[in-house]
Amino acid sequence: MSINTSKKIKSRIKKINMAIQLLEEKYGEIEWELRRDPMSELIYTILSQHTSDINSIRAFNNLIKKFKSFELIKDAPIEDIEAQIYTGGLAKIKASRIKEVLKIIYLDIGSFDISFLSEMDIIAAKSWLKSLPGIGPKTAAIVLCFSFGMPVMPVDTHIFRLSKRLDFIDNKVNADDAHEILEEMIMPKKIFSFHMNLINHGRQICNARNPKCGECVLNTICPSKQ
Ligand code: SF4
Repeated sequence: MSINTSKKIKSRIKKINMAIQLLEEKYGEIEWELRRDPMSELIYTILSQHTSDINSIRAFNNLIKKFKSFELIKDAPIEDIEAQIYTGGLAKIKASRIKEVLKIIYLDIGSFDISFLSEMDIIAAKSWLKSLPGIGPKTAAIVLCFSFGMPVMPVDTHIFRLSKRLDFIDNKVNADDAHEILEEMIMPKKIFSFHMNLINHGRQICNARNPKCGECVLNTICPSKQ
């Protein structure tokens, strides 16, 4: 690593620490709490791809209400799964992905209890999840973050946008690579709170089309301030 690269990373770490503090002063420090069990989080996250929270929650609830267990979803005809999740969009693709993921997990471990991931190191746990069809860095990070409280950083559209505007990452970095680049620069104990606060800030203040820079608590450290 060149001296210039190392200087740039150090200055970004400093800036991220300032952002963590400024966001916590505004929104508070967010404590981790279990959102769903790991398998439910995995299936929910597949359903949430390319749709809103409201639609994916509705699709997930319909699916669980109808089938009651992951085993019954695994054995159900794809059209029956599709019928329960149509509110989440892309129902055909998601139904076959869910069925395939459940089949592979069952063949691999003989159950749907993936709590063993908590015993693995982060790289191994991510890699096990990413070996499943249609599961990328974002879904893997969401499951490890929300169901196990591991210090990983899911990068959604808000976090990706803000990280570029605030120059936490280079403009040419893609969303998949952003996960690990950001993770390495954030104190592990602050990752969850920072993740939640950045999303909140992206929704309320630094939105995609009309960022409210005048009201933004990060405007003193933001090179994109308008
Ligand atoms: S100053 Fe503007 S562009 Fe920068 S983070 Fe705040 S709202 Fe976004």
